[in-house]
Amino acid sequence: MIYDVAIIGAGPAGITSAIYASRAGLKVALIEWGLYGGQLNDTDLIENYTGIRSVGGMELANDMFKQVENMENVGHLLGRVSKVAHDGVNFVTTYGKKEVKSTTVIYAAGVKHKKLGVAGEDEYEGRGVSYCAVCDGAFFKNKRLAVIGGGDSAAEAALYLSNLADKVYLVHRRDTLRAENILQERMEDTPNIEYVLDASTTSISGDGKGIKGLMYDGLGSREILNVEGVFINIGIVPNTLPLKELNVLTEEGYVFSKDSGMRTEFPGLYAVGDLRHDSVRQVVSATGDGAIAVDSLMKDLRK
Ligand code: NAP
Repeated sequence: MIYDVAIIGAGPAGITSAIYASRAGLKVALIEWGLYGGQLNDTDLIENYTGIRSVGGMELANDMFKQVENMENVGHLLGRVSKVAHDGVNFVTTYGKKEVKSTTVIYAAGVKHKKLGVAGEDEYEGRGVSYCAVCDGAFFKNKRLAVIGGGDSAAEAALYLSNLADKVYLVHRRDTLRAENILQERMEDTPNIEYVLDASTTSISGDGKGIKGLMYDGLGSREILNVEGVFINIGIVPNTLPLKELNVLTEEGYVFSKDSGMRTEFPGLYAVGDLRHDSVRQVVSATGDGAIAVDSLMKDLRK
């Protein structure tokens, strides 16, 4: 069977693409290898999705899944996508040990967390080092924690963890944060969050079982923070390796969108969501990307 479109990734961008493609009468293969909803599942609260004042990330992910679960024309394929190629006629997507053919592809595989690259990070991952406050916060009730980073993700993690932990240090390498002002104000109003600024983390140490401290270089001095958990939220890396052969990636590995219609340089391949080079990386923009990509795809098919 050859699908009209293979949609790779079932986060907000991929699910929205599937909804619009199904409603347009296309035969859709929606390929996912983890939880539907993507990064929504790592997010405590969404408060900037129009029309919904506040909703849990997992709840919104589940609602999105329910909306697409039984849609007409949507085949749900499970497996990690390792390659997207083109055989001269169709796209051929390898997922797990299988392949699926399609006339077009909407690539919506999202992003993953960036690693800090310091001693102790890999050794203590899952034993004190985490990249997801919502997933692992419950293991750190009444503990002293560090959150590393100065963006929206770090601020959201610090706020979430402040409800569970005794103390949360927000450790950032510069003296100003890039997190939204509203998040900064909330952190400043939270008594058990303390900023540790101009602080470059150099290592995470422990006793073999768990974490005992975080070492950082401050202004002219080396310091130790006495913490039992470290949450690393220093940005993202796009999941774009499967596209390597199609020559559509920027130097940083994001997909280059050649126009506002979500088209890439490769005809028939569209990219949506956080992995686009100029995405604003919001849930609301990811869903918008999905709708726009299907609109472009329909126009291109009619040509
Ligand atoms: P981000 O905005 O890229 O911020 C990364 C932070 O980590 C920066 O403060 C950066 O420091 C720091 N950092 C980067 N590399 C580092 C290193 N090697 N060592 C120490 N610190 C390092 O990443 P993000 O917070 O994960 O957000 C990613 C995107 O998703 C952003 O576009 C963000 O707006 C969006 N997002 C939005 C929401 C929301 O709307 N509520 C929530 C989460 C994420 P510098 O500032 O010095 O570069």
